[in-house]
Amino acid sequence: MLKKDLSWHFPGSPEEAAALVRGNKGYQYHAGGTGILRNKSSAAAGFVDLSQTCLEGVHFSQEKIEIGSMTNFTDTAGGESPSSSCPMALISRAAGTAASTPLRHRITVGGSIADSPPWSDLTAVLTAAEAEVFIISRDGKEQALPFIDYYHQKKDLRESLITKITLPKEKGNVYCYKRFTRVVMDYQLFSLALIGTKKQNKINDISCSATGGKKVFISLDEVRDFLTGKDIDPDMLKTAAEKVPFDFSDSPGFSAEYKFHLFKTLLKDGLFEFAGIGEEDI
Ligand SMILES: Cc1cc2nc3c(=O)[nH]c(=O)nc-3n(C[C@H](O)[C@H](O)[C@H](O)COP(=O)(O)OP(=O)(O)OC[C@H]3O[C@@H](n4cnc5c(N)ncnc54)[C@H](O)[C@@H]3O)c2cc1C
Repeated sequence: MLKKDLSWHFPGSPEEAAALVRGNKGYQYHAGGTGILRNKSSAAAGFVDLSQTCLEGVHFSQEKIEIGSMTNFTDTAGGESPSSSCPMALISRAAGTAASTPLRHRITVGGSIADSPPWSDLTAVLTAAEAEVFIISRDGKEQALPFIDYYHQKKDLRESLITKITLPKEKGNVYCYKRFTRVVMDYQLFSLALIGTKKQNKINDISCSATGGKKVFISLDEVRDFLTGKDIDPDMLKTAAEKVPFDFSDSPGFSAEYKFHLFKTLLKDGLFEFAGIGEEDI
């Protein structure tokens, strides 16, 4: 339960926000507030609201795309000219399909990365797109680290302020994002992000990342290695989808075996979409 006598702060810069959290035990950042309201942690002594820190927006430079940590999912989904960049289109797709319209107006990129619940729609796409996370760390200095490193160290980085993420602008020419839910508004059971380069009828390279396994990430290295450099044909894609290791656990409503089967079906559909093969081509 949240304490009743919480103090609230509205700093005007990222540096001020980071210093407030560093200097006060139990202070937490407040972005969209959707995770904070779910957890209602009694350990929170105060909130440092990030709405005045000017960390919103999607910016395109020559080589990179920058997404400010306070950009909400609605604005991320509407990110400028996504068709010009596969990584941006992939992240836009994931942000635009998460949760519900009112929640997408609240959930921020930074809050989603710091919170990283197992059902996060950003975890798989930021891994596949090779995103970098920029933080103001405990010593007050700016630091950049690959998303996957941030993800594995996030408990130790709790006081750090995420300021933005960057994505490479030129990565791949084809992408696919898929998620599995029982009903649209449910938390997703799996998410799947594919990004790569397809030339004529060949897959030159492919990055595959998926969540929903025993350890959140599902290992798809064998799928990637099998597909790289191969000519596209439906049987080859079906064989690739079988190369998922069995690493699932039982959860309410789903046995581990059933999840394994569901995930392989989702992956097969994703690979067909990635390869541009429709029902009529099979
Ligand atoms: C009903 C419901 C359904 C949902 N469904 C989905 C879904 O389908 N897909 C999905 O991806 N998400 C979904 N979410 C959102 C997800 O569960 C989290 O609530 C959300 O990611 C938190 O983001 P926020 O901006 O609201 O962060 P907040 O709640 O403000 O903060 C969450 C945590 O992150 C920290 N934090 C916030 N911003 C920063 C920052 N810039 N730097 C460092 N730390 C920071 C806070 O201190 C806090 O500990 C859903 C949420 C709800 C309530």
